[in-house]
Amino acid sequence: MSIQLLTEEVASKIAAGEVTERPASVVKELVENSLDAQASTIAVDIQGGGLDRILVADNGYGIEKTDVPLAFERFATSKLSQADDLETIATFGFRGEALPSIAAVSQLELITRTPDSTSGSKIEIDQGKVIEIGSQGSSFGTSVTIQHLFRNFPARRKFLRSPKSEASRIQKLISKFALAHPEVAFTLTMEGTQSLLTSGSGNLREVIAEIYSTRVAEAMLELEWDNTEPMVSPRGLIGVASVARSNREHMSIFVNGRWIQNRALSYALQEAYKGFLMERRYPLAIVDLQIPYDQVDVNVHPSKTEVRFQDEGSIFSILQRSVRQTLLGETPVPEFNRPVQNQKPTSIPQANLEAFWPEVQPDLEASNSPKPEISHSENHFPLNERSRSLIPKGALPALRVLGQIQATYLIAEGPEGMYLIDQHAAHERILFELITAEVTSQSPKIQGLMEPVTTNLNSLQAEILHSQKDTISGLGFLVEEFGETSYVIRGVPAVMTNQDPASGLVDILDLMADGGGYESWEQRAAYSLACHSAIRAGKVLVQKEMSELVRELEQCHQPHTCPHGRPTMIHMSAAHLEKAFGRRG
Ligand code: ADP
Ligand code: MG
Repeated sequence: MSIQLLTEEVASKIAAGEVTERPASVVKELVENSLDAQASTIAVDIQGGGLDRILVADNGYGIEKTDVPLAFERFATSKLSQADDLETIATFGFRGEALPSIAAVSQLELITRTPDSTSGSKIEIDQGKVIEIGSQGSSFGTSVTIQHLFRNFPARRKFLRSPKSEASRIQKLISKFALAHPEVAFTLTMEGTQSLLTSGSGNLREVIAEIYSTRVAEAMLELEWDNTEPMVSPRGLIGVASVARSNREHMSIFVNGRWIQNRALSYALQEAYKGFLMERRYPLAIVDLQIPYDQVDVNVHPSKTEVRFQDEGSIFSILQRSVRQTLLGETPVPEFNRPVQNQKPTSIPQANLEAFWPEVQPDLEASNSPKPEISHSENHFPLNERSRSLIPKGALPALRVLGQIQATYLIAEGPEGMYLIDQHAAHERILFELITAEVTSQSPKIQGLMEPVTTNLNSLQAEILHSQKDTISGLGFLVEEFGETSYVIRGVPAVMTNQDPASGLVDILDLMADGGGYESWEQRAAYSLACHSAIRAGKVLVQKEMSELVRELEQCHQPHTCPHGRPTMIHMSAAHLEKAFGRRG
């Protein structure tokens, strides 16, 4: 085949694919445009995880009437004019690609008005074709509505997860924007319910209180930096150990207000916390690195989440040193090998208790039991005879339950000291093993419904139900099609006690749609049913229920972790307690 120039249409579809990978990337581009337009309020409204509708409305400087059609030309931007400008990009946008790309894969309506014009303008574009341009009464600013995203792109739609998981990406994205820009008032409404509202007061602690909680906001330390290197100035709030998390999602790193994902910088942040956090705990921290524009290259990837630094080493080191300095300013270095009695217990600040309990680790390697699985991918499903025999039943000693804390944790005593058990995680483990055994032996316990229940499923739920029919009936669901989108449920898995059958089915289909990773559908189904059916944190249990739960956990093959690999319990050995109370050196 001879070489040909791509037609404008094909070229723009390729570009559209890079910029608009999913609903969240569309939201990102629109919000960035609003920030570039110096908006002080930005409202985002999402329906169907963004696939049905996305609305982003701002009170920024708007677009001149004559410029409105231009904004939808490829490489049309008001933010750059010459190549030199690329060296010092201070705006989020500069490629002039977002609006045309989004318009090529959706039905878009933009209404805008600049402060000095008397009327607003409106443009409507459907799958790249301009349908209407005209005047429209409106307040200052710009609002963009996107409907039917990827309607004509079934392949793209196929790669998306459920609307629920797209919605959660958008939620995360907007919270990152809000954390990076406390001076902007953000509102996020999802499926008609307001899920985020920040005041725009400029106070980061307030934003943290809104997104996390006041407890977290109060436990954040102001990042200190003595400013010996004027080139980079880190700003932000970093969390003490008591607000640490079990994953890296809550380490928010921004460069000049732009949320970035950079392995080296996350690593620097984690390293700075060394000795302050338990293993597999990650900081909650919000850091914005202010770096001169000519020191950063943001033109690396169309989605602009990656950046390159002129001098990565020094940025890495400044981030690490400033975080470390801040943490050290707050607390002395915890010395893990020194007996705890050398510290004055009364001087231990509440928030940093974790740092002083270095030996309190999930009891992952109980003596003479094999190492339990710690991640999905290491799970073997279904458990075959060989793996059953490899895992001696009853890896836990007999435990005596003493009570419940915060309606969430059980406290128990065993020959090796004290155990704190997470009731939800423990029950998830118990149910997971039970469900696995039932699926393996193809004998699910079914609870027949006296009165069949009908329910509607959305297209993704229906798709999973159809494609995973055997898996789902293997769990114990008796479901039949009943018209276009309706289904009738005649039976549910027996483990699903006390729950509404319809919402149970819907929930499990959603959970199955969300589950990423490499595990099989059977595994995913078993996790989902176990997670859905397990008792929740916050449920008060009576003594008998607690004892039964612990008895059943003792019978599990792998009692130390929930099916997702999180610990079901933490163990404080008798020796540790003795040391902590100064009974032994
Ligand atoms: P870029 O942001 O890279 O310039 P876009 O395609 O996102 O490209 O936008 C094209 C142009 O449309 C922008 O340069 C800007 O002039 C204008 N524009 C887009 N959104 C807004 C908005 N919310 N407020 C004001 N102007 C906007
Ligand atoms: Mg833009």
